[in-house]
Amino acid sequence: MLDKRIIEELKNIVGDDQVATDRQDLICYGYDATQMEFLPDAVVHPGSPEEVSAVLKLANAENFPVFPRGAGSGFTGGSLPKGGGVVLVVTRLDKILRIDTENLIAEVEPGVVTEQFQIAVEKLGLFYPPDPASLKFSTLGGNVAENAGGPRCVKYGVTRDFVMGLEVVLPTGEIIRTGGETYKGVVGYDMTRLMCGSEGTLGVITKIIFKLLPLPEAKKTMLTIFDSIDGAAKAVSTIIGNKIIPTTLEFMDYGTLQCVEKRFTLGIPANGRAVLLIEVDGDRELIERQAAQIQELIAPLGLVECKVAKDAAESEALWKVRRLVSPSLRDVNPDKFNEDIVVPRSKVPEVIRTIEKIKQKYDIPIVNFGHAGDGNIHVNIMIDKSVAGMEEKAHAAIAEVFQAALDLNGTMSGEHGVGLAKQPFIHLELKPAQVAAMKAIKHALDPNNILNPGKMFPL
Ligand SMILES: Cc1cc2nc3c(=O)[nH]c(=O)nc-3n(C[C@H](O)[C@H](O)[C@H](O)COP(=O)(O)OP(=O)(O)OC[C@H]3O[C@@H](n4cnc5c(N)ncnc54)[C@H](O)[C@@H]3O)c2cc1C
Repeated sequence: MLDKRIIEELKNIVGDDQVATDRQDLICYGYDATQMEFLPDAVVHPGSPEEVSAVLKLANAENFPVFPRGAGSGFTGGSLPKGGGVVLVVTRLDKILRIDTENLIAEVEPGVVTEQFQIAVEKLGLFYPPDPASLKFSTLGGNVAENAGGPRCVKYGVTRDFVMGLEVVLPTGEIIRTGGETYKGVVGYDMTRLMCGSEGTLGVITKIIFKLLPLPEAKKTMLTIFDSIDGAAKAVSTIIGNKIIPTTLEFMDYGTLQCVEKRFTLGIPANGRAVLLIEVDGDRELIERQAAQIQELIAPLGLVECKVAKDAAESEALWKVRRLVSPSLRDVNPDKFNEDIVVPRSKVPEVIRTIEKIKQKYDIPIVNFGHAGDGNIHVNIMIDKSVAGMEEKAHAAIAEVFQAALDLNGTMSGEHGVGLAKQPFIHLELKPAQVAAMKAIKHALDPNNILNPGKMFPL
């Protein structure tokens, strides 16, 4: 519980109307896309990096924790104020400061919503590829802090690959710049990369310089239906093995399709067991050639049907199937756990087979979808928490799913990070010496453990 004097000091920094302490306001900032909830003592909405800095200096002087938050759409509890303290919401910092069409860069504040940024650059013929499925509400600061990915990452890379420089308020309140506007730069440690994916534990991001690309001339979308999961998985390695890198290779298994079908008539043929949503982009001649080549390559792999979009409206209709996946799964099972393991893409069929065995061992429904092009599978454990013993079973199954990915030289998480949710499992992936090195970095930058304490590393 923060004492009244500290609340008054916070109001002096950000203004009376930018500090909330009423229960109904606090509830709005105590949840994210996990099923966890924790109530903060106060919520502050700073309007400048200097205000962020003053809040953090006060926190160090008075020893209270501060939890950075964007849109609160994280899947691992990264922004949640476990144990109480101050939630620092960056959404007032929401300006696109400049789009430089000569140098193909943009400078933005962290509270800009991802899709708004994409729309703004596309109006100028430019392209910002990272496209988390949450792009209609997630913030760019949250994307950098989580190093968010999305369907287009198979061709273009993740958020980190577009971050050239940052302004960061360190946990002790100093404001620093990392990287810059140049494509090259090797002076000192690469603090920009360190901050990408640091989950709000090493600093508050207050400005971002992004690299942009020219907007591709055209794209072509295909929804392909296979009679087996193996066929769909083989299609991924066959396409890439033939040196075609599509923009998107999204995969949905039969369980996922059945959930989507409850919201939307898909028209999947009776023998359809898995779907791959494939998109290519580039100049018109190239994408026509690649689309034809892809259809030829996947035809012998148990292809049941291939729907090819003729225009933007048809493409949007095909994408609707993919966009409905998350909400449809949640409709069917609000208690689901959504994990996001990654394996080398050629190992996708093997890991899916192992997940099937785990499903049978624990007698628990599991459905899989995700970014097959980069081996990133969203494994959804569809439990009903009201059934006694289910949650424990789910945790045991999750540990085995993580181990299966690690055994295939993969990782526990490609996009969602550790936060609170994966803390109990990080020892599976990281050796004690790796954790010790990471903790040493955290301690050097945050000696009083003020910023987002209790995240990432188990206590
Ligand atoms: C329906 C749905 C679909 C999703 N799809 C994807 C997907 O395809 N790919 C993907 O990668 N993720 C996805 N996510 C997860 C989530 O949207 C991303 O992790 C996103 O980047 C979080 O952004 P946010 O603004 O909501 O951040 P928050 O949830 O508010 O915060 C996330 C983390 O970032 C930190 N943080 C936020 N802002 C800052 C800042 N300015 N400075 C320092 N730290 C900060 C927080 O402390 C926290 O640790 C999805 C989520 C949902 C609900």
